[in-house]
Amino acid sequence: MTERAKTFVKEVLDGGLGVHIGGRPAAGEGTAVDLINPATGGLIGTLPGASADQVDEAVRTARASFSEGTWAQDDAGRAETLRRLADTVHAHADDIAYLDAIEAGKVFHLSAAEDVEDVVANLRYFADLADHHEGRQLQGPSGWGWVRGVPIGVVGVVLPWNFPIAMLGWKVAPALAAGNAMVLKPSEDSVLSALFFAELAREAGVPDGIVNVLAGDGESVGQALGRHDDVDMLTFTGSGEVGRLFLTYSAESNLKRVSLELGGRAAYIVDSEHTKDAGGTAGDIIGAAFGNAGQNCTATSRIVYVGDEEGYRSFVDTLTDEALAFSVGDPMSDSAAMGPVINAEARDRIVTWVDQAVEAGATVLARQPDLPEGDGYWVAPTLLESVPEGTELSTGEVFGPVAQVLRVDSREEAVQLVNGEPYGLASTVWCEDLATAKWWTDQVKVGTLALNGYSEGTVATPFGGLRQSGFWGRDNGPEALDGYRELMTVWVSAP
Ligand code: NAP
Ligand code: MG
Repeated sequence: MTERAKTFVKEVLDGGLGVHIGGRPAAGEGTAVDLINPATGGLIGTLPGASADQVDEAVRTARASFSEGTWAQDDAGRAETLRRLADTVHAHADDIAYLDAIEAGKVFHLSAAEDVEDVVANLRYFADLADHHEGRQLQGPSGWGWVRGVPIGVVGVVLPWNFPIAMLGWKVAPALAAGNAMVLKPSEDSVLSALFFAELAREAGVPDGIVNVLAGDGESVGQALGRHDDVDMLTFTGSGEVGRLFLTYSAESNLKRVSLELGGRAAYIVDSEHTKDAGGTAGDIIGAAFGNAGQNCTATSRIVYVGDEEGYRSFVDTLTDEALAFSVGDPMSDSAAMGPVINAEARDRIVTWVDQAVEAGATVLARQPDLPEGDGYWVAPTLLESVPEGTELSTGEVFGPVAQVLRVDSREEAVQLVNGEPYGLASTVWCEDLATAKWWTDQVKVGTLALNGYSEGTVATPFGGLRQSGFWGRDNGPEALDGYRELMTVWVSAP
C-alpha cells in the first residue's frame, strides 16, 4: 500500500515543503534540490531546501523542546512514545520503502522487509533500554554519590543516501531514547523518507520540535549544522572526506561531540582448508558484494581464497555463475536483486574505475550483460581478477557492484590484506574449524568480523569502524545509547 506515500510526494512538491520544524512541514527558503529517480534518470520534482535562517530556527526549536518539555526527563514516557513510533513506522513500511525506491533506487520489497523493519527493531530495542536506565552508585569515607548518563541536548544528524531510512533509524532511535532533540539533514539524493518520518513521529506522539528535518545540500545545510554553536553533538555517516570536515567544523565552533561512521573495503575470506564446500559460499559472497548495488560500506570488495590454484579455479567458476545470475532490475519489481546506482556521477566513476583496471591488465571474470534499457543509472555487477596495483580499484572504495577475486597461499597473507588497509570497518571469514576460526578472530582487526556468513550483526551489537573507518562512537547496541549521553557525577559530602 503506497497511496499515502504518493499523496505525500504530491503535497511536498506542490507546497515546496522542504523542511519540517516544530512538528510542522513548511516551505523551504534555501537552495533547491532536484529529486531524481535513478531507475529512469527522470526528475520527480524540485524541492527548496532549508535556508541558513531555517537551520537556525530548527536548532532553536529543538533546543526549546529539549529544555522546556518533559521529554528529556520522562524515561518511561519516551519509551512508550518510541514503541508507538515503531508501530507507526511498521504500519507504513510500504510507503517508506516506496519513497526510498523512487528516489534512491532501493529495491522496494527488500527495503520494506529489511530496512524499514530494521528501524522498527531499533526503535523497540532502544525503547526498552530507555526504560531501564541504570546509573552507578558509589560510597566512600568522604561521602557518597552517583554517576548517571544525561542526554547531550541538541543532536545534529547528517545522513547518506545508500540506506536512507535504515541509517536514519540507527541514529534517531538511540538519540531519542537517550532523551535528546534532533535536527536531521538527509542526503540531497534521498530526502523524502526523512521528511515523511518526521510526519510519522508527530503522529506517534513525539513532542513537536524533538525531530526536525531539513532538506538541502551538504555545503550549505550540512555545514551550517556542523558549525552551529548550539548543536551539542553531530553524528554522521558518509565518506571519510566529508567526515573529516565535521571535525574541523567542531574545532572551529563549540567543540560539539562528533561521531563518524565512514567507509570500508571489506574482504570476504574463504579458508578453503576448513571449508567443506567452498563453492557453497558463492551465493552469500555475491549477495555481500552486489546487494544494494554494492553501495554499502560493508560491501565485499575483495574475495580472498586461501588455498591452492586448483581449488581456486573451481571456486571462481561457481562465483562467476552466481555473479551472472544476480538480477538487475526496476526497484519496484519483485525479481530484482539490485537496482540502479544512485546518480550519473556514481555510475560514471564506477565504470571508469573498472575500465581503468581492465586497461591496466585486470581480467573480467563476469560482467552481467542483462541490464534494463533506458536512461537509468545501471551498472553491471562485475567480478574482476588480477587487478593491478596503482589502479583506483586496488586501493579505493568503489561503492558500486564491483568486486575482485584473489588467491593467497597463507592465512597470514589474507590477514595482512585486511589489516594493512586504512579502512577497518568489516570483513567476513568462512572457516568451519573452531580452533582456526578463533585464530582468525584474534588476527583480523575490523569493527565487525562476520564468521561463516556475511552479517553486520544485530540491533544489539555495536557497529562502527577501526582505523579510518570511523571516529568515536558506535551505531547499534547499548554503546550507541551511551554515545548520545554525557556522564554526570553527583557527589554528596558526608556531613
Ligand atoms: P558523503 O558525500 O560523505 O555525504 C554524506 C552526507 O554529508 C550527505 O548528507 C551530504 O550532503 C553531506 N555533505 C556533503 N558535503 C558536505 C559538507 N561540505 N559539509 C557538510 N556536509 C556535507 O557520502 P555519500 O556519498 O552520501 O555516502 C557514501 C559514503 O558513505 C561512502 O563512502 C560509504 O562508505 C559511507 N557510508 C558509511 C557507512 C558506515 O556506517 N560506516 C554507512 C553508509 C555509507 P549532500 O550529499 O546532500 O550534499
Ligand atoms: Mg535521487
